[in-house]
Amino acid sequence: MNFKHKKSLGQNFLMDDHIVNKIVDSANIDKETLVIEIGPGKGVMSSLIIPKAKYTLLYEIDKRLNTILNNRLSVYDNYKLVFDDFLKVDIKNEICNYSFNNLYVVANLPYYITTPIVEKFIDDNIFPDKMVLMMQREVADRYSAKVNTKNYAYLSVLLNYYYDIEKLFDVSRNCFFPVPKVDSTVICMKKKKNMLYVKDIEILKKVVKDSFRFKRKTIKNNLKEYNLEIVLRVLEKYGYGLDVRAEALSLSVFVDLANELV
Ligand code: SAM
Repeated sequence: MNFKHKKSLGQNFLMDDHIVNKIVDSANIDKETLVIEIGPGKGVMSSLIIPKAKYTLLYEIDKRLNTILNNRLSVYDNYKLVFDDFLKVDIKNEICNYSFNNLYVVANLPYYITTPIVEKFIDDNIFPDKMVLMMQREVADRYSAKVNTKNYAYLSVLLNYYYDIEKLFDVSRNCFFPVPKVDSTVICMKKKKNMLYVKDIEILKKVVKDSFRFKRKTIKNNLKEYNLEIVLRVLEKYGYGLDVRAEALSLSVFVDLANELV
């Protein structure tokens, strides 16, 4: 069938079986795992995920893929294929219908909504045990960035609060059809067993977001709406002053700040 790819939906399909296998293998899916795949496309990854998992939920926005997907996956009975915008579905409600030990997300994401997808899990308080995600390399660099590096940003801090993030491998743009303008990286995010104590997660999110609002500005400027006496007291514990920039502050400093500012 002659499928016309929609650039606006991020339809760059994986053509390299070796990479597809590598992604699915690195997720270590077992028969106690509920897997969510966002954007199955023509089902190349889905057909490897479904037989390994207890059950798989597939969310694809493009109904034109219905026949291709059903032809490929109909040999299995442990999956549900939903044609909808993943950003609009009520995942929390849906997963309540299944019993499972682990919840994993495995996906070659539609790149134009990578961050909204990741934020949806966090904002909906879902927190999958593991997420193996392919994304644009620059975005992967930001998610996995360490303190005091140029890519360190709001999501590097916030994701690091919930997850241990590891870059698994890079994928050349030539492994896709149509060939995209960017290269890709697969990352693995594993939920932390011991998270730092946070009194109010919404305050942590706000403090981190505000601290990075203007990257070149100091904390004094970015947090001028806050009680700067408290901010300074916390920063001094770590040897900083109000002239420090957000990129120098580790997760534990942000957590301490948020807990004191509650
Ligand atoms: N998994 C396939 C593969 O690796 O070949 C396709 C990956 S492709 C990069 C992204 C897929 O996400 C496309 O099939 C696209 O139609 C789908 N998609 C785009 N926006 C979506 C959305 N909001 N909700 C669900 N799926 C979406």
